[in-house]
Amino acid sequence: MTLDDILVEMKQAEKIVVMAHETPDGDAIGSMLSMKLALKKMGKEADVIVKEFPRTFAFLPGANTVEEKTDVEKYDLAISLDCADLKRLVGREYFEKAKKTIVIDHHSTNMMYGDINFVNPVSPACCEILAGMFEYFDIDIDVEIGSCIATGIITDTGGFKYSSVTAETFEFTAELIRKGVNISDIYQRVLETRRKSNFELLRRAMNRLELLEDDKIAFTYINKKDEEEVHAEIGDHEGIVENGRSIEGVKVSVFIREKEENLYKVSMRAGNGTNINVSDICYVFGGGGHPRAAGATVAGTVEQVKEKLVKEIKKVI
Ligand code: 5GP
Ligand code: MN
Repeated sequence: MTLDDILVEMKQAEKIVVMAHETPDGDAIGSMLSMKLALKKMGKEADVIVKEFPRTFAFLPGANTVEEKTDVEKYDLAISLDCADLKRLVGREYFEKAKKTIVIDHHSTNMMYGDINFVNPVSPACCEILAGMFEYFDIDIDVEIGSCIATGIITDTGGFKYSSVTAETFEFTAELIRKGVNISDIYQRVLETRRKSNFELLRRAMNRLELLEDDKIAFTYINKKDEEEVHAEIGDHEGIVENGRSIEGVKVSVFIREKEENLYKVSMRAGNGTNINVSDICYVFGGGGHPRAAGATVAGTVEQVKEKLVKEIKKVI
């Protein structure tokens, strides 16, 4: 499938819906909002489906236009962004009922569940794929679209520090600066600003952090009770897993967060300087992601989930 096929579908469709993965991060939000704005430049009004919008990204253009609920039947085209599989897609019902579907993503574990799938696993962010795509479509990337794209690139590269960053990442970013995008402002808003509740969650998680298997595995967790007690907001758990990975000698950092009773959302990161593929480990549990950052959902108590995960991680460290 080529970019031209995608352009044909976008031009043909009258009613378009855009969506991304659950608990959306900066790349998911940036991808959806930039796509909505780009479609607008093509003369198309698109609905964006977001159930949980992190307040961190409320400054982005179009953040106030996300849909709560619309008619499931009405779409000619559904576009899924930054989402590897249907089961994590928020608005899956819209996707499944749409006449035509497009998947644009950068996860190597993408299940290719669209009619058209445009997946580039070496791209550090879905937003970077979109920047190239909009350029190819001759859509002017203005300050508004550019700010959304920069948000995805900055968050998914950890502020340009992950090994996924390429010369192209900086070239796209340089172009965004020329267009007037304030990279420093976005960087500070999305990576350098903590809500108090986020800090309190981090404090609890750090107090509980255990170093297992000769200090090669960092493990910590957060329960629903913690989130209630600190009055956590959507997105407050983001970034906690990164702290374990920065400890010298740690090969895998694990953070688990209670989703519902006896069900935990797992975040896994490869330690600095290792070549462990955490996506492969998460795949064993029905999850996936990227080689150095991945996730899954695992059933059990904290102790049970920890035991299951450590058993798999031990095989590769
Ligand atoms: P995080 O730990 O930040 O939630 O996720 C890290 C990376 O793994 C992200 O790219 C995210 O999309 C992906 N990921 C997280 N959980 C899952 C999952 O359950 N399944 C799949 N396929 N990918 C996941
Ligand atoms: Mn992403």
